[in-house]
Amino acid sequence: MNQDVEKLWELQSVYTQLADRERQLSVKPESFAVIDREWQSANEEMARLEAQIEVLSKERRRVEGELSDQQELLKKYQGQLMQVKNQQQYAAAWKEIDATRKHVKELEDSALKQMGDIDVIQKQLDDRNAAHADLKARYDEAYAAWQSSLGDLRGEANALKKKAEKIEATLAEGLKREFHRVFKQRQGIAVAPVAAESCSACRSRIRPALSQQLKRGDLVHCEGCHRILYLEKGT
Ligand SMILES: [Zn+2]
Repeated sequence: MNQDVEKLWELQSVYTQLADRERQLSVKPESFAVIDREWQSANEEMARLEAQIEVLSKERRRVEGELSDQQELLKKYQGQLMQVKNQQQYAAAWKEIDATRKHVKELEDSALKQMGDIDVIQKQLDDRNAAHADLKARYDEAYAAWQSSLGDLRGEANALKKKAEKIEATLAEGLKREFHRVFKQRQGIAVAPVAAESCSACRSRIRPALSQQLKRGDLVHCEGCHRILYLEKGT
């Protein structure tokens, strides 16, 4: 029995487990992803409402500025009305006053509508704000739970790395290099068990001659994928 192949297989198993932990470390768990989505969308919605209020307020200030200009103008025309000298001037002054009053009325209506619109959006924002503390607490809790579960995973990953180092320390330098060469080329799987006379990684049949070598305990590469083949004990 070739101890080297046994060790390589053990090393492969450790690296496979390590890859699993690292995959888990890189993925947001669904329990956190759910609240994370809710949190992000609440923040986006609040930012959207705030931006809307900002735009409307700016427009409202513009309308109010124009309103105050028009009110000044109206006062001026009303003053002029006192100084008219004939019927023609009187009619002309009244025409100006009439048009300006209409404009003032429009601006007042517009300002009123804007205030109403701002109130509606402000109310939505207030409701969001009221619910925000609770949402933040739930978000923080889920985040902490995720991080603490990562702590366990990180611990496992570190233990697996140490285990791999220990096994590698017992391997001949050339064998270790060979393992890592195939490991790198073959998506993290350097050693493939034999199942039903085939390579379990690429399904290539194993010729009887290679099968004999394997049974002797030789280091044999799959002819299909060049991975190191491992014949499990008792098979
Ligand atoms: Zn293969």
